[in-house]
Amino acid sequence: MGIGFGLAAVIFLGIAGYDVFPLIFLAAAGAVLYFIARSRGLLARSFAGGNPGIRHEVTFNDIGGQATAINELKEALEFIRNHSDIQKLGIRPLKGILLTGPPGTGKTLLAKAAAGYTDAAFVAASGSEFIEMYAGVGAQRVRKLFQTARETSQRMGKNNSIIFIDEIEILGGKRGQTTSHLEYDQTLNELLVQMDGLKVDDRVRVLLIAATNRVDMLDPALLRPGRFDRQVKVELPDREGRLEILKIHTRNKPLADDVNLEAIARETFGFSGAHLESMANEAAIMAMREKLHQIHHRHFHEAIDKVMMGERLDRRPSPAELRRVAIHETGHAFVSEYLRRGSVSALTITPRGQALGYMRQTPEDDTYLYTRDYLENQIAVMLAGAVAEEMMLGGRSTGAGNDYLQATKTADQIINSGMSELGIIDPETLPRSFRYRTQKKILQAQEERVRDYLEIKKKELTRVVDLLLEQEKISGQQLRKILGQQIQCA
Ligand code: ATP
Repeated sequence: MGIGFGLAAVIFLGIAGYDVFPLIFLAAAGAVLYFIARSRGLLARSFAGGNPGIRHEVTFNDIGGQATAINELKEALEFIRNHSDIQKLGIRPLKGILLTGPPGTGKTLLAKAAAGYTDAAFVAASGSEFIEMYAGVGAQRVRKLFQTARETSQRMGKNNSIIFIDEIEILGGKRGQTTSHLEYDQTLNELLVQMDGLKVDDRVRVLLIAATNRVDMLDPALLRPGRFDRQVKVELPDREGRLEILKIHTRNKPLADDVNLEAIARETFGFSGAHLESMANEAAIMAMREKLHQIHHRHFHEAIDKVMMGERLDRRPSPAELRRVAIHETGHAFVSEYLRRGSVSALTITPRGQALGYMRQTPEDDTYLYTRDYLENQIAVMLAGAVAEEMMLGGRSTGAGNDYLQATKTADQIINSGMSELGIIDPETLPRSFRYRTQKKILQAQEERVRDYLEIKKKELTRVVDLLLEQEKISGQQLRKILGQQIQCA
C-alpha cells in the first residue's frame, strides 16, 4: 500500500510540475539499503528462514525410520502440551532440545514437525548466521531471534514458539578456542542468557531446538541442566527405516509394477534420508527424460549410482583404458561373488564422478560389527582390481590408488581392534614400523589369495570383460550366469 501511495504521490507531483528526480533517487537508495540490511541478517525477518512463523505442514508422519527419535522428542514436547500440569507441579520449563546426528537424517524435519505438534510458531536460523567479525553483532542477533520468536507467535495468536538453530556448534563451540574468541564468546553468552531468561509463566513459551553433528564441540555450559536438557539422537536409517523413507518419497510418484522398494532399501546401506529423497527424485527425472509416464526399477538403480558416485560423465577413456577398467572392475566382482555369493549388484565401465568404472555390492544385511574374516574378505575384494590388471595386462595402474587406501584403512581396523597377530595394542603408542609390517602381512596374504582364485577363473574373466566392453554394464545375474552360479538375487 505504501509503495502504491508513494508512486501516486510522485506521479501527481510530476504532473503538477515539481522536480521529482531527487525523490526517486532517495527512494532507490532506501530500497538498496533495505535489501543490503536484509541480506546481512540485520532485520528480524532474516532469522526466520525466510518464512517467519508460517505454519509448516510437516508432521511426524512425513519422517521415516526415526521412530525412536520421534518418540523421545514427543515425550519431551509433552512439557509444552501439558503446560498447566507442569505449572501446577512447579516443574521448571524445558528450555532446549538438542538433536544430534549425521547430516540429512531429518533433524530439521523433526523440528518443523515439533512446531506443528505443539501448535507453535516456527522460527529457524543457522549457527553461521550469528558469526561476524565485529564484536557484539552475534549477540545482538541472538536477542533479535528470541524477540522475533515471541512477536511471531503473538502475531499468529499462538502461545508457543519454537526456535530452531541448525549447526549450533558454530555458535555454541567451546569458549576461548577461536582466534576471534571475544565475538564467539559474547554470542554464546547471550544465548545462555536468553535461555536462562525463559520462564514457565511467560506469555509466549519459547523452546529452543538445536541440531548438530558435532556434539563434542559444544561448550559444556550449553549441556548443563536447565539449558539443553534433552538430547535426541537422530541416526542414519536402517533397512526398515530406509524402506519407510522410500515409501514417503515415492508417495507422489507413479511407480511401474517392476519397482521393488525393498530391494532398493537393501542396496542403499549408509544412505541418509536426504540421499534417499534425492535418489527418488533422480529416478523420476530419468523416467521423464525417457518420456515415460512411470518410473521403473532400472531408473532407481541408475539413480543410486548417481547419488553414490556423482553425475555420469561424457568423458570417454581410450579403448586400451576401457579394457583396463573392465578388467579391474571384473576382478573386484569375481572375488566379491566368490566370497559372498549373490553379492554383486552390477558392474559398469561408465565414467561417473571421480570413477572410470565401478562394481556395486548388495549388502546382505546392515552390519555394525565386523569379524576379522569379514574385514579380510573386504580387503580381498579391494585388492582384486589391481591383481586382475597385473594378471591380464602384466602391470598395475594408478586406478587402484583408492583401493589401496581403503585396504590399508581396513587392515588398520584389524590391528586397532586387537585382531591382528600383535594382539591387543594401544593404537596411540604402537610404533610405526610394527604397524607397517603387520599391515603389509595382512595385505600380502589377501593378495595371494585373490591371485590364486583369479588364475583359476582366467577364462571366465576374459568372457565377462568382453561382454562388459560390449554392453558397458552387466547385472549381478548375468555375471553369476557366466560364473555358473544360478543364484536368485534382487
Ligand atoms: P543437516 O544436518 O545437513 O541440516 P538434517 O538432518 O537437518 O540435515 P533435513 O534437512 O531434515 O536433514 O533433511 C533434508 C531432506 O532430506 C528433507 O527435506 C527430506 O526430504 C529428506 N529426509 C531426511 N531425513 C528424512 C527422513 N527421516 N524421512 C523422510 N525424509 C527425510
